[in-house]
Amino acid sequence: MRSNDVREKYLKFFEKRGHKIISPAPLVLETDPTTLFTSSGMQPLVPYLMGEKHPEGVRLVDSQPSIRLQDIEEVGDNRHTTFFEMLGNWSLGDYFKKDQLPWIWEFLTKELNLPKEKLYVSIFEGNELVPKDLESKEIWLSLGVSESHIFEYGVKKNWWSRSGTPDQMPVGEIGGPDSEIFYEFTSVEHQHEFGSKCHPNCDCGRFLEIGNSVFIQYKKTDKGLEELPQKNVDFGGGLERITAAINNDPDIFKTDIYWPSIQKLEELTGKKYKDNMASFRIFADHLRASLALVNAGVIPGNKMQGYILRRLIRRMTTKFPEIDKIIDNTVIGDEIKKFKITLNKGLKEIGKIDKITGKIAFDLYQSYGFPLELTVELFKEKGQEVDLEEFRKEFEVHKDKSKSLSAGVFKGGLADHSPGVVKLHTATHLLLASLRKVLGDNVVQMGQNITKERSRFDFPNSRKLTVEELTKVEDMINNVIKRDLPVNFAVMPKEEALKTGAIHAFNEKYADTVKVYYVGSDLESAFSKEFCGGPHVAKTSEIGHVTINKQEKIGSGLLRVYVVISNQK
Ligand SMILES: [Zn+2]
Ligand SMILES: [Zn+2]
Repeated sequence: MRSNDVREKYLKFFEKRGHKIISPAPLVLETDPTTLFTSSGMQPLVPYLMGEKHPEGVRLVDSQPSIRLQDIEEVGDNRHTTFFEMLGNWSLGDYFKKDQLPWIWEFLTKELNLPKEKLYVSIFEGNELVPKDLESKEIWLSLGVSESHIFEYGVKKNWWSRSGTPDQMPVGEIGGPDSEIFYEFTSVEHQHEFGSKCHPNCDCGRFLEIGNSVFIQYKKTDKGLEELPQKNVDFGGGLERITAAINNDPDIFKTDIYWPSIQKLEELTGKKYKDNMASFRIFADHLRASLALVNAGVIPGNKMQGYILRRLIRRMTTKFPEIDKIIDNTVIGDEIKKFKITLNKGLKEIGKIDKITGKIAFDLYQSYGFPLELTVELFKEKGQEVDLEEFRKEFEVHKDKSKSLSAGVFKGGLADHSPGVVKLHTATHLLLASLRKVLGDNVVQMGQNITKERSRFDFPNSRKLTVEELTKVEDMINNVIKRDLPVNFAVMPKEEALKTGAIHAFNEKYADTVKVYYVGSDLESAFSKEFCGGPHVAKTSEIGHVTINKQEKIGSGLLRVYVVISNQK
C-alpha cells in the first residue's frame, strides 16, 4: 500500500465518524516567535485543547507536515527523520477513550489489515498522584488484545502534559495518560545491549511506535489532579512509520516516500544503498525536508529557518557532491553549487595540513560539514591516520551542546513559563540595555533571578543609583514599551553572534550555534540584543509598566536592583 492511500483512508475513516477534515497548519511559523517550525499535529491545536472554541467543530482530523530538529544527529538509522507527516484526530470535549481506542484499532486492523498478533499497546501504570489507566486496559482487552500484548509504563513514557510529569505540572495545567500502539518486526532480533528482555519501548528496533492516543482528562489544582469536566482526545501517528508497518519492513526508507529518490541516487552515483545506508538515509530525509521548506517559501540563509535549510542542503551535499545533477529545484541547486565552492576550499585546507588531529577533523566537520568518513579516506590517501577517539570526544561534547540548545530553542512554544514571568524576563532585557545606555558598557549581568512577583538583577556598580539615574533608566524602559517594538530572534553561529554586538552573560558557556533575541525591527539597530533561549513577549507593549522598586549594595562592588510590573500605562 502506498503512503498516499494510507493518508486518504485515514482521513475518510474519521470523516465517516463525524470528523471535519481541517487543513494542516503552515510548516513555517512566522507569527510565533518561540518556535521555527510546526513540529507535531498537536501543536497548532493546543489553544483548542486548552478550551478555546474551534471554528470547525469538536471532531477534527488532518495530516500535518512537521519538522523536528532535536533528532538531526540521529538521522541515518532506520526510523529517525527531521521531516515527517503526522496523522491526527481530535475530540475537543466530545468522545473519549471508549470511542477512540476501538476506532483506531479498527482503522489499523480492518482498513490497513495490520495483523493483530503484530500489534502491542501500552497504558499508564499510575503513580502516587494518579491512578492506573484501567479504563484503557479494559477497552483493549474487550477488543481482543491479549494480556501479553498490553504493557504498562510510568510517567516518563505514558503521561502527557506541556510541563512534563504530574508533579511538575503547575496549578491550572492540563494533562493525562496516553496509550501507544507498537508494531513488532519479528525479523529484527533483540540485542542484549538494550536490556535482558525485549518490550515495546525497547530501543533495539524490534518494536516501532506507530501511534499514540493522548487522553487529556485532568487539571492540576491546589488539591492535586482533578478530573476535567470536558475531556479531550489527541491522536498522532507517523505516516512514514505506519506505511513501514504495512510493508512489514522496519526500514522506513524502503517506503514509497523515500525509495524513488534513493534509487535515482543509486543510478547517478553507482553506489548501493545497502553498502551506504546512513548516507543514503540522510540524503533522502534532508532532500525531502529541504523541498518542503523551499515550498513553504524558505530561502537558504544565515538566520532562523533559512539557516536550518542551508544546514540540511550542506549536509546532504557533503555525502553526495554530485546530487545537483538529479535535483531540478533551482533554490536547492543554486545553494549546492555555492556550497561546492566552499567545500573545495576545505579540501585545499586539508591539503595544507601535515597532521590531522581528531580536533582538526572535528573542525572540518563543523565548518565545512565534512563527514568523518570522507576525512578519514583522504588521509589515508596521504598516508595519515585520524585520531578517531579524539574526534568522537569532540563530537559528543558538540552533540550534548546542540541537544541542550535545541531543547531551549525548539521546544515548540510549549514551554512551562507563566505569562508574568515571560513579561518580567523580557523587561530584564530592557533593563540591562537601558542601564548600559545610562551608566556605560561596564554594566554586565552578574546575576539574575526571576519569580512571579519581581525580577532581581546584579551588576558591577560601587554605589547606589541616584534618583535621577533611576528615573532615566525607568523612562527609557517604559518608552520602549510604549513604542510597542517587536521582540525577534535570529539563530546563528556563535562567532557571528558576537560580531553583532549582542550581550552575553559574563561567565556562561554557549553552544556553537546560538539564539540572539533583539528588541526592534532589525538586529543591527535593535534597542537590546542578547544571547538568550527565550521565551519572550512578542511585542513590548505586552509587558505593562516597569518600576525599579528597590536597590541594595551586595558587596564585591555589586549593586542589586529589583524590577516589578504594574498594569498602569
Ligand atoms: Zn529489544
Ligand atoms: Zn531572554
